[in-house]
This record gives sequence, structure tokens and C-alpha cells, in this order.
Amino acid sequence: MNTKNDLNTLRTRLREISYLSSTSALLGWDQKTNAPQQSHAHRAEALAYLGTLAHQKFLAINEDDLIDRLSEAAEKGMLSPRDRAMVREVARDLARIEKLPETFVREYVAVTAEAEHVWEEARARNDFAIFAPWLKKVVDLTRTRAALLGDAQKPYDALLDEFEPGMTAETVSIVFAELREALVPLVEAIAGSRVSVPRLKGRFPVESQKAFGRMITEAVGFDYTAGRIDESTHPFSSGFHPRDVRITSRYSETDVMYSIGSALHEAGHALYEQGLPYALLGTPLAESVSLAVHESQSRFWQNMVGMNKHFWKFAYPKLKKAFPEALKEIPLNDFYRAIHRVERSLIRTESDEVTYNLHIIVRFELEKALVEGAIAVKDLPHLWNQKMKEYLGVTVPDDARGVLQDVHWSGGAIGYFPTYALGNLYSAQIYESMRNDIPEFDHLLAEGNFAPILAWLRKKIHRHGRQYQAEELMRRATGSPLAVAPFMNYLKEKYRPLYNLN
Ligand code: ZN
Repeated sequence: MNTKNDLNTLRTRLREISYLSSTSALLGWDQKTNAPQQSHAHRAEALAYLGTLAHQKFLAINEDDLIDRLSEAAEKGMLSPRDRAMVREVARDLARIEKLPETFVREYVAVTAEAEHVWEEARARNDFAIFAPWLKKVVDLTRTRAALLGDAQKPYDALLDEFEPGMTAETVSIVFAELREALVPLVEAIAGSRVSVPRLKGRFPVESQKAFGRMITEAVGFDYTAGRIDESTHPFSSGFHPRDVRITSRYSETDVMYSIGSALHEAGHALYEQGLPYALLGTPLAESVSLAVHESQSRFWQNMVGMNKHFWKFAYPKLKKAFPEALKEIPLNDFYRAIHRVERSLIRTESDEVTYNLHIIVRFELEKALVEGAIAVKDLPHLWNQKMKEYLGVTVPDDARGVLQDVHWSGGAIGYFPTYALGNLYSAQIYESMRNDIPEFDHLLAEGNFAPILAWLRKKIHRHGRQYQAEELMRRATGSPLAVAPFMNYLKEKYRPLYNLN
């Protein structure tokens, strides 16, 4: 037995699989940005074929007991910490894939694809009844999936584990209950305050928004020699590997903050991808650790930086130059207030940083109850509207703007929503900890000097890949476990003075 050879064999196999997966990702990116309409059918076939190939190659990774031998070597303490983590994570991925029989996967893919089509129609026609039978199929399959993957008594844990390895339903329930109890009164107080915050009005030519977005993403450190920015209906980021990371944005002539916020958000995701160790490409050590940690990066740049008063000391003069007409009469202070408008609204993707997590908590509570069999699909619209009233104080006028608004459930992404809110909590922990480590933080923002900030993230988070599980990584980076307080402190510090709250 030669462990060194085995490690090299494993790296080679993983790298070959990465050629397939990064090519698939490139095709997926192209489909959402540039591809002509008629190209879709062939591309779908190509993607399915490449996906099958990658799947087969991954299953074959242990055909000569390579992983078994390496796991044994790891147990005997013969591997470096990084190699041990690589083997542990590959074994984990393999175990997961082996638990899902091919017939199940085929049915799951077919049903969720069809359910997504039906959902689109149901939303367009504002008719939950068309979607309900399909959602029921998805939920049933999801429960089967959970039972195959984990403990049938705790189905939600198994689902969470796919998006946020190591996280449990119990932890999320406790943390979200605390978050909800803190957020509901804050949102009520803001809504009841007499302070009115005007909207930002005016025309913001799209070409100038593109130039500004490019400037600001470059300023925070997005490397355009290892990535690019394009347009798509829904902004996203896609990392093929650390030296090729694509982001997209969307532009509205009347809403300049949308494109700035989304450019910084996607750049945050992209900076994480660009900061993964290229030399380890293909191995789990060059992969992001979890969706919540990924989201913490995007939210950090979008909110903690991009909504920060000191950041706008640097950026506002540039924004005024880009949009002299619209911003001529608006001083920095008024602009800053306008971008901190809080609204109790219906749509998650349009909601502000104060109310956003309540939208997530509604979804988490419902989807957990669904997979645990505590509620039925037919009761969803009613329960949705009830929770929206209770937590956000809004009356949902129809299902299109209620339970039908998100694509996630139709595609089988159940257990995914919590990662958005967990990412928000982590982003505030990072903010708190970084300001301790870098006392001149505010000053750096005002100067537009983001390099020390990015360096902190690179060192504490990006370069580790999947060496530690998400919770441990964040504990090492911020010095504390998942917590609500830093996020609430962040909100209160900003919004209390803005809305004259005490
Ligand atoms: Zn995101």
C-alpha cells in the first residue's frame, strides 16, 4: 500500500470530474445569459449526458477501494490535516450519492422538472390548485429522499444537511425563534415611527449603471482577469473554478440601488469562489463549504459594506458623477436615508435587510411542518397568509404574491431557505469580528481601500474550502458560534437613529 500514490490517484480522478462539472456549469451559465432560444434542446441533452458521466465517474472513485484505503490511512494518522479533510469529504459525498438509487434519482429529476413548469403556470394564473397536486408529489419524494439519506424520524435534518452540512433542524428552530422574537417588535417600531423616509426617484441610464457596477465590483476586489459580469433575468454567480467566476446583474432605469446591491451581492459570492485554492482544484478543499457561508459573503459585501455610511462617503461622489441629473439635488445624508427605507412587503426578493429574515422564517416553519407531516399541502396558502400577517403585518392579496412566489419548493429545494437567513446571521458575526480585528474598518471604507477587508475574508474563510464544517469554520473565523445578537446589534445600531427609536 502506497498512500502517496493513492492520494495522487484520488486527486487525478477528482480533477477529471471537475472538467466535466465546470463544463456543465459553463453551459448552464451560457444558457442563462447568451444562448439563442433554439439552442436549448441540444444543450439540455448535453447537460444530462455530462451530468451522468460525472455521476458515474464519481461512483467509480472507490471501485478499487481507493477511498477505503485512504480512510484507513487517515484513521491511523498517516495523512496531513488537509488530506484527511479531503478524504473525509469525498467519502461523505460518496456515501450520500450511494444512498440514492438511480431509479429514485430519475423519478425525482422528472417530477421536479415537471413541477417547476406547473408552478410557473400556477403563479402566472394565480391558481394554487393547479400546483397543489404537484407540490404534494414533490413533498412525498422529498420525504423519501430524506429517509434514504438520513434518519426517517428527523427528515428535515437530512434535507438541511444537503445544503448546510452539519446543521440541524433543532438548532435552526431555536435560532429562528430568537430571531423572530427580536425582529417582529423592531419591524413594528419602525413601521409605527413618524419618520418618513422618501424613496429615491429619478432616471438612472442603464449604461451608466453598468459602468458603475463594474467600477464598484472591481474596487472591492473582484478580479476581472478571472471573471466577468453579464446580464440575466435573475442575478446569479457561477464559479467554474477560482480563475473563472461569472456574475450577472439586472438593471432597472428607475431603481439604481437594485443593480448596485445585486452587483455587490454577486461579487461577494464571486470573491469567495475566486479565493478558493486553485492548486487544489477538483478536491473538496477547493469547494465552498455551505450555502449559508456562501450567502454570508454576498450579504457582507451587499449590506455591511454596501449599505454602510462610510462606504458611501467613498462611493457617493462617484455615483453623483455617474448620474448627475437624478442626484444633483440629493445630499449624501438624504441618499443614505433613502436606501434604508424599511417596508413591510409581500415579496421576499424585494424585501429590505430588516424584514428579509421574517420572510425566510415563514418558509422554514412551513416547509419543516410539511416534510414532518404536521401540515398538508392544501393548507399552505391559508397558513402562509396567517404567518405573513402575524410576523410582517401584511395582508396577502393573492397566492401569486403569497405562497406561489418562489421557485424553490417546486424544484425540490426544501431545506434551502434557512441558509439565506443563516447567511445573514453569519455576515453580521463577520462584521462584528472584523471590526475588532481591524479598528480602522470605517476609515478603510471611506477611503475605498477594501484590500485589508478582503484579505481578512481570504485568510479566515475562503482559503479553507471544506477543510472544516461550516459551523466550525465560522467559529474559528469569528470566535463565536452561530448567534442572533450580532445581527440584531447591527440592525439596531443603524436603524434606531434613522427612525428615532430608543
Ligand atoms: Zn446570494
